[in-house]
Amino acid sequence: MTTPGQISKGCTQTPVLRERGQHEVFCGLTSIIWLHRMMPDSFFLVVGSRTCAHLLQSAAGVMIFAEPRFGTAILEETDLAGMSDAQDEIDREVDRLLSRRADIRRLFLVGSCPSEVIKLDLAKAAERLNARYAPKIRVLNFTGSGIETTFTQGEDSCLAAMVAAMPSSDTAGLVIAGGLPDVVQDQMLDLLDRIGVKDVRLLPNRSSDEEFGIGPNTHVAFVQPFLGETYDILVRRGAHPVSAPFPFGEQGTTAWLKAIASRFGISSDHVDAVTEPARLRARKAVAQASEPLDGKRVFLLPDSQLEVPLARFLSRECGMELVEVGTPYLHRDLVGCDLAQIADCPTLSEGQDVEKQLDRVRAARPDLTVCGLGLANPLEAEGLATKWAIELVFSPIHFYEQAGDLAGLFARPLRRRAMLQVAAE
Ligand code: SF4
Repeated sequence: MTTPGQISKGCTQTPVLRERGQHEVFCGLTSIIWLHRMMPDSFFLVVGSRTCAHLLQSAAGVMIFAEPRFGTAILEETDLAGMSDAQDEIDREVDRLLSRRADIRRLFLVGSCPSEVIKLDLAKAAERLNARYAPKIRVLNFTGSGIETTFTQGEDSCLAAMVAAMPSSDTAGLVIAGGLPDVVQDQMLDLLDRIGVKDVRLLPNRSSDEEFGIGPNTHVAFVQPFLGETYDILVRRGAHPVSAPFPFGEQGTTAWLKAIASRFGISSDHVDAVTEPARLRARKAVAQASEPLDGKRVFLLPDSQLEVPLARFLSRECGMELVEVGTPYLHRDLVGCDLAQIADCPTLSEGQDVEKQLDRVRAARPDLTVCGLGLANPLEAEGLATKWAIELVFSPIHFYEQAGDLAGLFARPLRRRAMLQVAAE
């Protein structure tokens, strides 16, 4: 309970249950599936094994038939046994690739479990290839291995590598960090423009021609909560992060815009005036779509680090009761504002010991469990309604126009269950 005059800290002080053990998550390589679409002049070359190539193929689904801009340089037994020089092999593969694909302007060498286990130095390879291909082609490296990264952390690792390679600059301006689908990105730029924030830079930038610098006059707002490493490197390079909840739902979007506006001396009243029609539309859409969610209990398993901001949206805007909010990593600087807005503190858990967590799910019997694909069907078979977390990463869910759809994604399993029940009666 907050007494008048006291500032609510929400659940920022709630102790976190830290678990380590068996976990069911994707490795960071999966993020290449959406990253390559956001950077059309880039190619992602995974240096890995056949397992990595298979993972990418199955995660990309039909996309693999559309000449995607990613591939795997497969480490053969001779490489693993140190019988051939893997660095020479990488050079050969890259030469072959670049001679075939003249459209590539940025090449990412992506580390995997096998390349890390044999300590293949991809930073050295990137440096050497850069010397050969610069300035036409920029070669960078990051890791997407399952040892180092889970799922969306692959994007974090990629963006952090991009920031590390950016030049220094004293130019003032706003950088928005985090990949978004094109249509959502356009909506965001339009909103920022209308509240009076101009010259916005995007990370990742669509083209290497839009290169920009980072320095003490750079302000950064984040649209994705899984960018801990990117956050840390931007701060180290002197940039000033804007603290705000993430732009999910009407309230999240408004608070995010107001935090940026305040950084640039724009009044909150001005933001209210400019956004009023969009806010009303979003509120109405959320109210309609979230009707089956009101008063229901939700359990979020760790998957993408989107869990804390989404929990805030589900509890504040959709009337849900949070049982447990699990996240692979909890970066308090990034999700602190969302934590502060969660009122009735649920169990907060970081990391995973999947069997123990499933026992908690079974004991709580929530109305909805948000989890990965591997757990969804078994839980459905036990009579629990589930929502596949991966859809939240691939669907447009940010800002006002998507607020209703976001609520709808969670409501759909409950609606379907109600319909099946009626049909069975
Ligand atoms: S990087 Fe590791 S976890 Fe990911 S597919 Fe390759 S071997 Fe598997």
